[in-house]
Amino acid sequence: MSDPLPKTNRPTREEAEDAIRTILRWAGEDPEREGLHDTPARVARAYEEFFQGYEIDPKTLLERTFSEVEGYDEIVLLRDIRFESHCEHHLAPIIGRAHVAYLPRQRVVGISKLARVVDAYARRMQIQERLTAQIANTINDVLQPHGTAVIIESSHECMTTRGVHRPGVSMVTSQMLGVFRTSSDTRRELMAMLNRPAASEY
Ligand SMILES: [Zn+2]
Repeated sequence: MSDPLPKTNRPTREEAEDAIRTILRWAGEDPEREGLHDTPARVARAYEEFFQGYEIDPKTLLERTFSEVEGYDEIVLLRDIRFESHCEHHLAPIIGRAHVAYLPRQRVVGISKLARVVDAYARRMQIQERLTAQIANTINDVLQPHGTAVIIESSHECMTTRGVHRPGVSMVTSQMLGVFRTSSDTRRELMAMLNRPAASEY
């Protein structure tokens, strides 16, 4: 995917609010009635939040690493990272959980940074396959671990609230790089870690 458009090439906030007013009229509403008067501004602010990821360079989130790990060289897994994204086909929410693992090569990264990489890509217009690959590729490129694994489970509101109307359906994608791709033992170990009870259940 290409890099985000520079801010100077984007429409203004006023233009975005006008576009929302157009959608309100197109749907059959009167954008001037009291209840809708501030809606264009609110929607623009909400979209700013939904699509905040375009303002973040995910690679920079992983720049600070730690090497004092007493030789720790096993899988690091952060699981059940809840995220909110939007599908690029309908701008409908995708709500899900990501599990992110890597097998460090000497250096580790603060675990909250892994969650922030998930958010940086989730808060864009996405398809789940690309979201999964982008998270995995970024971790793999920056940390250069022995391997990286990303598994995402999510529910797509464009499938639950419109179109085929199938609530309860979840989509699962995974991207395995390095040893997670080449070694079935490492992959099995990851799956065993994923199947343990969550820490909150201890
Ligand atoms: Zn969709």
